[in-house]
Formats: sequence, structure tokens, C-alpha cells
Amino acid sequence: MTSLQALRAAQARRARLRRRLIAYGQWQPFVDAQPARAHVEAIRATGMSIASIVKHTGVNIGTIDHLIYGKKPYPPAAKIRPENAEAILAYWPVLDDYDDGAVIDGTGTRRRVQALALIGWPRRSIHQHVNHISVQAVEKLRTKERVTARTARAVRDLYNRVSEQPAEAHGVTPWVAARTRRNAAKLSYAPPSAWDPDTIDDPNAIPDWTGYCGTDRGWWSHRLENIPVCPPCADAHAAWLANIKHVSLPERSRLLAHARAQASNRAAAVAENARELLDWGETYETAALRLGISRNHLYQAMLRHPEQTAA
Ligand SMILES: [Zn+2]
Repeated sequence: MTSLQALRAAQARRARLRRRLIAYGQWQPFVDAQPARAHVEAIRATGMSIASIVKHTGVNIGTIDHLIYGKKPYPPAAKIRPENAEAILAYWPVLDDYDDGAVIDGTGTRRRVQALALIGWPRRSIHQHVNHISVQAVEKLRTKERVTARTARAVRDLYNRVSEQPAEAHGVTPWVAARTRRNAAKLSYAPPSAWDPDTIDDPNAIPDWTGYCGTDRGWWSHRLENIPVCPPCADAHAAWLANIKHVSLPERSRLLAHARAQASNRAAAVAENARELLDWGETYETAALRLGISRNHLYQAMLRHPEQTAA
């Protein structure tokens, strides 16, 4: 969508909203400006310019200026038109909305570059696809707090294209890929399978290595599948142990054995059930939904428990 189309679409939405509010008898000439102001400030804090906010909400620049800065000698607006407030509150930016040069949170970019390293992508190969920044700058993306939207988009696009195969499938020299993987593993980077595409950009999301990370079952899965235990699982297991601290020793052993057995049977059973559902024509998404697990976990369980072919 061009910016003019985006602006027209936003303006049309705003006009529709106003007509609807009037029709329902809910249209008031003005409402409290504070929630809309706080929302605009929150959007600006993500790195979006006022010009972009104008473009994507369809609310005109004068209104937004008045809302944020006021007009000397008057303070920022205390009241705002309800359709403007609604249009502002209904909007939250996605990555594609930002200008190339906008400086935004680097969480998703960091995770993607780390995950790519773990499947064998060295900085030089990433640079071939994200070539508007230097090889050294690509290396720094692994730890960078903030990045430009242009870089975030280039990394995301590369990741979406290549993260389901090992790097060798995309032309990375095998020994280079192997070395990159080894180094990344030492740094405990999370692989693509630990991230959900819907939450990889969310700073509050944690990598889900096992399908149960953050629970005691997750802790057992780490142990059984030989994946280094992640901090949320370590915490969950410590809490579980603290919970049975006063239980007698034999009972405690029994509980531990039970927890372990549940975790070990579960992954194999998930893989087996998933294969059956896929054979019946379900997709990965619908099979995961039926089994009550995330698509990532399903994927992971199938990788770890390959099909047993009859000898
Ligand atoms: Zn975990």
C-alpha cells in the first residue's frame, strides 16, 4: 500500500466510525484526550515518528500536534473528538509500518540472528542478504538493543525464508556452517524451533525449547532430550522440589519417577499422534490444534522422535 492509499484508507475508517457512533447515538462532540495522548506517546516510544502515526491513523497532523504539544500559549488538548480518539486507540504499529530509518526495539532481530547462527548462518552469509549494513554490523545484531526498521525487516525476511532448513541448504559451506553452529550452541542461543513466529518479537516471550518451558515437565524434557536446561524451567523445577520438600523420601522418589515418566512418554506420543493426523490430511496447524500444543512443539517432537520404520 502506498502512503497515499494508507492515508485514504485510514480516513475512510475514521469517517465510517463517526457515522456509526452518530447512528448509535453515542457520538459526543468531545471526550477526554488523556487515553489517546498516552497511546500516541506509547507508539512514539516504540520509535515511530508523528508523521507515520498521522499516516496510519488518518488523524490529521494538527490534531496530533495539539494532543501532544498544545499550541502556545495553550497546553496540550484536554478534549478530543471521539472519532479521533477511537482511530488513535485502535492503532498499534506492526514492523512494516515503520519508516526505513526508524530506530526500534531489537529483540526480534537479536533472536533471529542468534537462531540463524544456531542453524549454521555465519555473519558473512547473513550479510549477503542484509547488505545495507557491514559484516561487522551484522555481527553486532546478535546483541543490539535497538535497530533500524530497515534492518529488522531484512533480517525477518531472510529468517522467514531460510529458518526451516539447515544453512547448507542455502549455500553456506558445510564446515563453516558446522563451526557457526558449534559456537552458537556454546552461547546457548535458542533455535528457530524454540520460537513462535507470533511472539518472537515480544520482549516478554521466552524461548520454548521443549513445548513445556517454564514448567516442571519442561525441565524433565530438557533432561531427557539432552537440551541444556533453560532458566524458566530451572526455576519451575526448583519450585516443584520445594513443594515436595516435606514429603517422605520414598514418596518423593515416587513423585520424581512419575514426573519423569510423564515427560518421556509424552513427546513420543505427540510425534506418533501428529504423524497419524498428518496422514489423514491434517496440516501442521490443525494437527497441533487438535493435540492442544503449539505448532513448534509438534514440529520439535517429530524431529526428536523420527518415524520407526519396520525392519
Ligand atoms: Zn525450558
